[in-house]
Amino acid sequence: MKTRRLSSTALTLALTLWAGAAWAQQDPPITIDTHVDIPLAYMREARFDVGKDTPLRVDLGKMERGGLNAAFFVIYVEQGPLTAEGYAHAVAQAKQKYDDIDLMLKRYPQRIRLATTPDQVMANRKAGKLSAMIGIENGYSLGHDLKNLDAAFARGARYIGLAHVGHNDLCTSSMPTADLGDPPLSDAGLSAFGRSVVERANQLGMMVDISHSSDACVRDVLQVSKAPIIASHSAAHALINHPRNLPDDLLRAIAAKGGVVQAVAYKGFLKLDPGRELAEKALQAQVAKQAGDKTYDSEKHDFLPAYVEGMRRIDAAFPLPTLDDYVAHIRHMVDVTGIDHVGIASDFDGGGGIDGWQNASETRNVTAALRRHGFSDNDIAKLWGGNLLRVWRAVEQDADAHR
Ligand SMILES: [Zn+2]
Repeated sequence: MKTRRLSSTALTLALTLWAGAAWAQQDPPITIDTHVDIPLAYMREARFDVGKDTPLRVDLGKMERGGLNAAFFVIYVEQGPLTAEGYAHAVAQAKQKYDDIDLMLKRYPQRIRLATTPDQVMANRKAGKLSAMIGIENGYSLGHDLKNLDAAFARGARYIGLAHVGHNDLCTSSMPTADLGDPPLSDAGLSAFGRSVVERANQLGMMVDISHSSDACVRDVLQVSKAPIIASHSAAHALINHPRNLPDDLLRAIAAKGGVVQAVAYKGFLKLDPGRELAEKALQAQVAKQAGDKTYDSEKHDFLPAYVEGMRRIDAAFPLPTLDDYVAHIRHMVDVTGIDHVGIASDFDGGGGIDGWQNASETRNVTAALRRHGFSDNDIAKLWGGNLLRVWRAVEQDADAHR
Protein backbone atom coordinates (compact mmCIF):
# COMPACT_ATOMS: atom_id res chain seq x y z
CA MET A 1 0.00 0.00 0.00
CA LYS A 2 2.74 2.33 1.03
CA THR A 3 4.66 1.93 -2.18
CA ARG A 4 1.51 2.50 -4.19
CA ARG A 5 0.87 5.74 -2.34
CA LEU A 6 4.38 6.89 -2.92
CA SER A 7 4.21 6.17 -6.59
CA SER A 8 0.95 8.04 -7.02
CA THR A 9 2.51 11.05 -5.27
CA ALA A 10 5.49 10.78 -7.58
CA LEU A 11 3.14 10.58 -10.54
CA THR A 12 1.25 13.68 -9.45
CA LEU A 13 4.53 15.54 -9.01
CA ALA A 14 5.75 14.43 -12.41
CA LEU A 15 2.49 15.49 -14.05
CA THR A 16 2.64 18.86 -12.32
CA LEU A 17 6.19 19.42 -13.48
CA TRP A 18 5.35 18.22 -16.96
CA ALA A 19 2.46 20.67 -17.09
CA GLY A 20 4.72 23.45 -15.90
CA ALA A 21 1.77 24.48 -13.79
CA ALA A 22 2.40 25.43 -10.19
CA TRP A 23 -0.76 27.36 -9.53
CA ALA A 24 -0.17 28.50 -6.00
CA GLN A 25 -3.54 29.76 -4.79
CA GLN A 26 -6.00 28.56 -7.38
CA ASP A 27 -6.95 26.07 -10.06
CA PRO A 28 -5.25 26.63 -13.40
CA PRO A 29 -7.08 29.49 -15.13
CA ILE A 30 -9.57 28.93 -17.91
CA THR A 31 -7.73 29.14 -21.25
CA ILE A 32 -9.57 30.69 -24.18
CA ASP A 33 -8.25 31.23 -27.70
CA THR A 34 -10.50 33.75 -29.45
CA HIS A 35 -9.57 33.04 -33.07
CA VAL A 36 -9.24 29.61 -34.71
CA ASP A 37 -10.00 29.15 -38.40
CA ILE A 38 -11.45 26.04 -39.98
CA PRO A 39 -10.67 24.87 -43.52
CA LEU A 40 -13.15 24.09 -46.25
CA ALA A 41 -14.25 20.46 -45.88
CA TYR A 42 -13.74 20.69 -42.08
CA MET A 43 -15.08 17.46 -40.55
CA ARG A 44 -16.32 16.30 -43.96
CA GLU A 45 -12.98 14.89 -45.12
CA ALA A 46 -11.27 12.26 -42.96
CA ARG A 47 -8.07 14.34 -42.73
CA PHE A 48 -10.04 17.18 -41.12
CA ASP A 49 -11.92 15.01 -38.61
CA VAL A 50 -10.76 16.75 -35.43
CA GLY A 51 -11.53 13.77 -33.20
CA LYS A 52 -8.47 12.15 -34.79
CA ASP A 53 -4.91 13.31 -35.35
CA THR A 54 -5.06 15.94 -38.10
CA PRO A 55 -2.66 18.24 -39.94
CA LEU A 56 -4.63 21.12 -38.39
CA ARG A 57 -3.06 23.23 -35.66
CA VAL A 58 -6.21 22.80 -33.59
CA ASP A 59 -7.97 19.47 -33.11
CA LEU A 60 -9.55 17.99 -30.01
CA GLY A 61 -6.50 15.92 -29.04
CA LYS A 62 -4.18 18.93 -29.36
CA MET A 63 -6.53 21.04 -27.22
CA GLU A 64 -6.77 18.33 -24.55
CA ARG A 65 -3.02 17.66 -24.46
CA GLY A 66 -2.12 21.35 -24.46
CA GLY A 67 -4.66 22.39 -21.84
CA LEU A 68 -6.58 24.73 -24.14
CA ASN A 69 -10.09 24.70 -22.67
CA ALA A 70 -12.04 26.74 -25.19
CA ALA A 71 -11.78 28.25 -28.65
CA PHE A 72 -13.82 30.50 -30.86
CA PHE A 73 -14.09 28.70 -34.19
CA VAL A 74 -14.44 31.19 -36.97
CA ILE A 75 -17.02 31.53 -39.73
CA TYR A 76 -14.70 33.17 -42.25
CA VAL A 77 -15.57 34.18 -45.79
CA GLU A 78 -13.21 35.85 -48.19
CA GLN A 79 -14.23 39.33 -49.34
CA GLY A 80 -15.86 39.27 -52.78
CA PRO A 81 -17.88 41.66 -54.92
CA LEU A 82 -20.77 43.59 -53.34
CA THR A 83 -23.32 42.08 -55.73
CA ALA A 84 -26.37 39.87 -55.27
CA GLU A 85 -24.31 36.94 -56.55
CA GLY A 86 -21.40 37.75 -54.24
CA TYR A 87 -23.67 38.02 -51.21
CA ALA A 88 -25.45 34.74 -52.01
CA HIS A 89 -22.11 32.96 -52.32
CA ALA A 90 -20.91 34.39 -48.98
CA VAL A 91 -24.12 33.39 -47.17
CA ALA A 92 -23.84 29.84 -48.55
CA GLN A 93 -20.17 29.55 -47.54
CA ALA A 94 -21.00 30.69 -44.01
CA LYS A 95 -23.86 28.19 -43.76
CA GLN A 96 -21.49 25.39 -44.70
CA LYS A 97 -19.11 26.39 -41.89
CA TYR A 98 -21.89 26.49 -39.28
CA ASP A 99 -22.92 23.01 -40.47
CA ASP A 100 -19.31 21.78 -40.20
CA ILE A 101 -19.01 23.02 -36.60
CA ASP A 102 -22.35 21.33 -35.82
CA LEU A 103 -20.92 18.12 -37.24
CA MET A 104 -17.97 18.31 -34.83
CA LEU A 105 -20.30 18.90 -31.86
CA LYS A 106 -22.60 16.03 -32.85
CA ARG A 107 -19.78 13.58 -33.49
CA TYR A 108 -17.85 14.27 -30.26
CA PRO A 109 -20.36 15.27 -27.56
CA GLN A 110 -18.23 13.53 -24.92
CA ARG A 111 -15.27 15.79 -25.66
CA ILE A 112 -16.52 19.20 -26.79
CA ARG A 113 -19.69 21.24 -26.33
CA LEU A 114 -21.01 24.46 -27.76
CA ALA A 115 -20.86 27.44 -25.40
CA THR A 116 -23.07 30.42 -26.12
CA THR A 117 -22.64 32.06 -22.71
CA PRO A 118 -19.70 32.58 -20.34
CA ASP A 119 -21.57 30.40 -17.81
CA GLN A 120 -21.56 27.53 -20.29
CA VAL A 121 -17.82 27.89 -20.84
CA MET A 122 -17.28 27.50 -17.10
CA ALA A 123 -19.80 24.65 -16.80
CA ASN A 124 -18.15 22.74 -19.67
CA ARG A 125 -14.76 23.11 -18.06
CA LYS A 126 -16.14 21.86 -14.73
CA ALA A 127 -17.57 18.83 -16.55
CA GLY A 128 -14.15 18.16 -18.10
CA LYS A 129 -15.27 19.09 -21.62
CA LEU A 130 -13.80 21.47 -24.15
CA SER A 131 -15.86 24.47 -25.26
CA ALA A 132 -16.49 25.50 -28.85
CA MET A 133 -17.67 29.05 -29.35
CA ILE A 134 -18.45 30.63 -32.70
CA GLY A 135 -17.22 33.94 -34.08
CA ILE A 136 -17.81 35.57 -37.45
CA GLU A 137 -14.89 36.88 -39.51
CA ASN A 138 -16.24 39.25 -42.14
CA GLY A 139 -19.75 40.70 -41.98
CA TYR A 140 -19.88 40.16 -45.74
CA SER A 141 -21.30 36.72 -44.86
CA LEU A 142 -24.48 38.48 -43.68
CA GLY A 143 -25.26 39.09 -47.36
CA HIS A 144 -26.34 42.68 -46.64
CA ASP A 145 -29.36 41.42 -44.70
CA LEU A 146 -29.72 42.22 -41.00
CA LYS A 147 -31.95 39.17 -40.53
CA ASN A 148 -28.86 37.04 -41.15
CA LEU A 149 -27.29 38.50 -38.00
CA ASP A 150 -30.20 37.17 -35.96
CA ALA A 151 -29.85 33.83 -37.75
CA ALA A 152 -26.13 33.76 -36.93
CA PHE A 153 -26.88 34.45 -33.27
CA ALA A 154 -29.41 31.62 -33.28
CA ARG A 155 -26.73 29.29 -34.65
CA GLY A 156 -24.43 30.26 -31.79
CA ALA A 157 -22.28 33.11 -33.14
CA ARG A 158 -21.17 35.38 -30.30
CA TYR A 159 -18.91 37.86 -32.06
CA ILE A 160 -19.23 39.63 -35.36
CA GLY A 161 -15.95 40.65 -37.01
CA LEU A 162 -17.08 43.48 -39.25
CA ALA A 163 -14.56 43.24 -42.09
CA HIS A 164 -11.66 41.23 -43.47
CA VAL A 165 -9.15 42.14 -46.19
CA GLY A 166 -10.96 44.55 -48.54
CA HIS A 167 -13.66 47.11 -47.83
CA ASN A 168 -17.21 45.75 -47.55
CA ASP A 169 -20.74 47.07 -47.09
CA LEU A 170 -20.29 47.39 -43.29
CA CYS A 171 -17.04 49.30 -42.99
CA THR A 172 -13.64 50.06 -44.44
CA SER A 173 -10.87 47.50 -43.99
CA SER A 174 -7.39 48.10 -42.58
CA MET A 175 -6.19 46.53 -45.82
CA PRO A 176 -8.01 47.77 -48.95
CA THR A 177 -7.82 45.41 -51.93
CA ALA A 178 -6.99 46.83 -55.33
CA ASP A 179 -8.39 43.66 -56.98
CA LEU A 180 -11.86 44.57 -55.69
CA GLY A 181 -11.49 48.16 -56.87
CA ASP A 182 -11.14 49.53 -53.33
CA PRO A 183 -10.21 53.17 -52.96
CA PRO A 184 -7.20 53.65 -50.66
CA LEU A 185 -7.72 54.26 -46.95
CA SER A 186 -9.76 57.34 -46.20
CA ASP A 187 -11.72 58.76 -43.29
CA ALA A 188 -14.71 56.65 -44.32
CA GLY A 189 -15.47 54.13 -41.58
CA LEU A 190 -18.74 52.50 -40.63
CA SER A 191 -21.53 52.55 -43.26
CA ALA A 192 -25.23 52.97 -42.47
CA PHE A 193 -25.62 49.18 -42.78
CA GLY A 194 -22.57 48.65 -40.57
CA ARG A 195 -24.11 50.94 -38.00
CA SER A 196 -27.33 48.91 -37.98
CA VAL A 197 -25.28 45.72 -37.56
CA VAL A 198 -23.48 47.15 -34.51
CA GLU A 199 -26.79 48.32 -33.00
CA ARG A 200 -28.45 44.95 -33.62
CA ALA A 201 -25.45 43.07 -32.21
CA ASN A 202 -25.76 45.20 -29.05
CA GLN A 203 -29.46 44.24 -28.78
CA LEU A 204 -28.75 40.55 -29.33
CA GLY A 205 -25.83 40.41 -26.91
CA MET A 206 -23.25 39.62 -29.58
CA MET A 207 -19.75 41.07 -29.21
CA VAL A 208 -18.57 43.43 -31.96
CA ASP A 209 -15.05 42.58 -33.18
CA ILE A 210 -12.95 45.29 -34.87
CA SER A 211 -9.91 43.20 -35.90
CA HIS A 212 -9.28 43.86 -39.64
CA SER A 213 -11.39 47.07 -39.55
CA SER A 214 -9.76 50.37 -40.53
CA ASP A 215 -8.82 52.78 -37.75
CA ALA A 216 -11.60 55.14 -38.93
CA CYS A 217 -14.10 52.28 -38.63
CA VAL A 218 -12.87 51.42 -35.12
CA ARG A 219 -13.44 55.04 -34.05
CA ASP A 220 -16.98 54.94 -35.49
CA VAL A 221 -17.76 51.64 -33.74
CA LEU A 222 -16.53 53.08 -30.45
CA GLN A 223 -19.05 55.90 -30.94
CA VAL A 224 -21.98 53.72 -32.00
CA SER A 225 -21.68 50.65 -29.76
CA LYS A 226 -23.42 50.86 -26.40
CA ALA A 227 -21.53 47.83 -25.11
CA PRO A 228 -17.76 47.18 -24.79
CA ILE A 229 -16.10 45.87 -27.97
CA ILE A 230 -13.31 43.40 -28.71
CA ALA A 231 -10.46 42.90 -31.14
CA SER A 232 -10.50 39.11 -31.56
CA HIS A 233 -6.96 38.94 -33.01
CA SER A 234 -4.78 42.04 -33.26
CA ALA A 235 -1.23 43.15 -32.37
CA ALA A 236 0.37 46.46 -31.40
CA HIS A 237 1.21 49.08 -34.05
CA ALA A 238 3.70 50.86 -31.77
CA LEU A 239 5.93 47.76 -31.98
CA ILE A 240 5.35 46.73 -35.59
CA ASN A 241 4.24 49.19 -38.23
CA HIS A 242 1.59 47.10 -39.99
CA PRO A 243 -1.85 48.41 -40.99
CA ARG A 244 -3.51 45.43 -39.22
CA ASN A 245 -1.96 46.40 -35.87
CA LEU A 246 -3.76 48.72 -33.45
CA PRO A 247 -2.21 52.08 -32.53
CA ASP A 248 -1.95 53.04 -28.85
CA ASP A 249 -4.78 55.60 -28.98
CA LEU A 250 -7.21 52.92 -30.18
CA LEU A 251 -5.93 50.41 -27.59
CA ARG A 252 -6.66 53.05 -24.94
CA ALA A 253 -10.09 53.88 -26.38
CA ILE A 254 -11.14 50.20 -26.51
CA ALA A 255 -10.01 49.80 -22.88
CA ALA A 256 -11.77 53.01 -21.81
CA LYS A 257 -15.00 51.51 -23.12
CA GLY A 258 -14.40 48.39 -21.04
CA GLY A 259 -13.33 46.20 -23.97
CA VAL A 260 -10.47 43.78 -24.63
CA VAL A 261 -7.80 43.33 -27.32
CA GLN A 262 -6.77 39.72 -27.89
CA ALA A 263 -3.07 39.79 -28.83
CA VAL A 264 -2.52 37.60 -31.89
CA ALA A 265 0.33 35.14 -32.50
CA TYR A 266 0.52 35.91 -36.23
CA LYS A 267 4.04 36.08 -37.63
CA GLY A 268 3.67 39.10 -39.95
CA PHE A 269 2.19 41.30 -37.21
CA LEU A 270 4.88 40.42 -34.63
CA LYS A 271 8.00 40.76 -36.74
CA LEU A 272 8.62 42.46 -40.09
CA ASP A 273 10.40 40.07 -42.45
CA PRO A 274 10.28 41.26 -46.09
CA GLY A 275 12.39 38.30 -47.25
CA ARG A 276 9.85 35.84 -45.82
CA GLU A 277 6.97 37.76 -47.32
CA LEU A 278 8.51 37.60 -50.80
CA ALA A 279 9.30 33.90 -50.41
CA GLU A 280 5.74 33.13 -49.24
CA LYS A 281 4.21 35.09 -52.12
CA ALA A 282 6.36 33.23 -54.63
CA LEU A 283 5.42 29.87 -53.09
CA GLN A 284 1.72 30.74 -53.10
CA ALA A 285 1.83 31.75 -56.77
CA GLN A 286 3.60 28.52 -57.64
CA VAL A 287 1.20 26.31 -55.65
CA ALA A 288 -1.87 28.04 -57.09
CA LYS A 289 -0.52 27.57 -60.61
CA GLN A 290 0.17 23.88 -60.02
CA ALA A 291 -3.39 23.48 -58.74
CA GLY A 292 -4.73 25.15 -61.89
CA ASP A 293 -6.00 28.26 -60.07
CA LYS A 294 -5.42 31.90 -60.87
CA THR A 295 -4.81 33.06 -57.31
CA TYR A 296 -3.84 31.48 -54.02
CA ASP A 297 -6.77 30.49 -51.82
CA SER A 298 -5.59 29.66 -48.29
CA GLU A 299 -8.62 27.49 -47.55
CA LYS A 300 -8.07 25.41 -50.65
CA HIS A 301 -4.28 25.33 -50.93
CA ASP A 302 -2.85 25.54 -47.38
CA PHE A 303 -2.84 21.78 -46.88
CA LEU A 304 -1.46 20.71 -50.25
CA PRO A 305 1.85 18.80 -49.82
CA ALA A 306 3.71 21.24 -52.10
CA TYR A 307 2.67 24.14 -49.88
CA VAL A 308 3.41 22.38 -46.59
CA GLU A 309 6.85 21.34 -47.86
CA GLY A 310 7.55 24.83 -49.21
CA MET A 311 6.58 26.46 -45.92
CA ARG A 312 8.94 24.11 -44.07
CA ARG A 313 11.80 25.38 -46.24
CA ILE A 314 10.75 29.00 -45.68
CA ASP A 315 10.52 28.52 -41.90
CA ALA A 316 14.08 27.17 -41.93
CA ALA A 317 15.38 30.13 -43.95
CA PHE A 318 13.37 32.87 -42.20
CA PRO A 319 12.89 32.06 -38.50
CA LEU A 320 9.40 32.65 -37.13
CA PRO A 321 8.79 35.15 -34.33
CA THR A 322 9.34 33.64 -30.88
CA LEU A 323 7.22 33.55 -27.76
CA ASP A 324 9.35 36.46 -26.49
CA ASP A 325 8.34 38.51 -29.56
CA TYR A 326 4.71 37.60 -28.84
CA VAL A 327 4.84 38.44 -25.14
CA ALA A 328 6.44 41.80 -26.04
CA HIS A 329 3.12 42.74 -27.72
CA ILE A 330 1.14 41.58 -24.69
CA ARG A 331 3.47 43.54 -22.41
CA HIS A 332 3.13 46.69 -24.52
CA MET A 333 -0.67 46.43 -24.58
CA VAL A 334 -0.78 45.89 -20.81
CA ASP A 335 1.50 48.90 -20.30
CA VAL A 336 -0.85 51.04 -22.43
CA THR A 337 -4.26 49.77 -21.23
CA GLY A 338 -3.70 47.97 -17.93
CA ILE A 339 -3.98 44.25 -17.23
CA ASP A 340 -7.80 44.12 -17.58
CA HIS A 341 -7.99 44.76 -21.33
CA VAL A 342 -5.68 42.24 -23.01
CA GLY A 343 -6.18 38.60 -24.02
CA ILE A 344 -4.76 35.81 -26.18
CA ALA A 345 -5.52 34.60 -29.71
CA SER A 346 -3.61 32.24 -32.00
CA ASP A 347 -5.20 32.71 -35.44
CA PHE A 348 -4.31 29.02 -35.87
CA ASP A 349 -5.22 27.55 -39.25
CA GLY A 350 -5.58 31.10 -40.53
CA GLY A 351 -1.86 31.85 -40.75
CA GLY A 352 -1.14 32.05 -37.00
CA GLY A 353 1.58 30.09 -35.23
CA ILE A 354 5.00 31.08 -33.90
CA ASP A 355 8.12 29.37 -32.62
CA GLY A 356 7.01 27.75 -29.36
CA TRP A 357 3.27 28.01 -30.03
CA GLN A 358 2.88 26.18 -33.31
CA ASN A 359 -0.35 24.44 -32.42
CA ALA A 360 -2.82 23.99 -29.57
CA SER A 361 -0.77 21.18 -28.00
CA GLU A 362 1.91 23.79 -27.13
CA THR A 363 -0.49 26.06 -25.27
CA ARG A 364 1.31 25.66 -21.92
CA ASN A 365 4.40 27.27 -23.46
CA VAL A 366 2.48 30.57 -23.63
CA THR A 367 1.74 30.38 -19.90
CA ALA A 368 5.39 29.59 -19.18
CA ALA A 369 6.55 32.54 -21.33
CA LEU A 370 4.18 34.91 -19.52
CA ARG A 371 5.60 33.72 -16.18
CA ARG A 372 9.14 34.17 -17.45
CA HIS A 373 8.29 37.76 -18.31
CA GLY A 374 7.04 38.48 -14.82
CA PHE A 375 3.27 38.16 -15.13
CA SER A 376 1.65 36.90 -11.93
CA ASP A 377 -0.81 33.99 -11.74
CA ASN A 378 -3.59 36.52 -11.35
CA ASP A 379 -2.43 38.46 -14.44
CA ILE A 380 -2.18 35.26 -16.46
CA ALA A 381 -5.70 34.20 -15.46
CA LYS A 382 -7.01 37.54 -16.78
CA LEU A 383 -5.03 37.29 -20.01
CA TRP A 384 -6.04 33.67 -20.67
CA GLY A 385 -9.77 34.30 -20.54
CA GLY A 386 -10.83 36.24 -17.46
CA ASN A 387 -10.90 39.53 -19.34
CA LEU A 388 -12.70 38.11 -22.35
CA LEU A 389 -15.38 36.49 -20.16
CA ARG A 390 -15.86 39.78 -18.30
CA VAL A 391 -16.45 41.65 -21.57
CA TRP A 392 -18.75 38.92 -22.87
CA ARG A 393 -20.83 39.12 -19.67
CA ALA A 394 -21.00 42.92 -19.95
CA VAL A 395 -22.25 42.61 -23.54
CA GLU A 396 -24.91 40.10 -22.40
CA GLN A 397 -26.00 42.34 -19.54
CA ASP A 398 -26.15 45.41 -21.74
CA ALA A 399 -28.41 43.52 -24.18
CA ASP A 400 -30.70 42.42 -21.32
CA ALA A 401 -30.91 46.00 -20.06
CA HIS A 402 -32.04 47.27 -23.46
CA ARG A 403 -34.44 44.48 -24.37
ZN1 LIG B 1 -8.02 37.39 -39.53
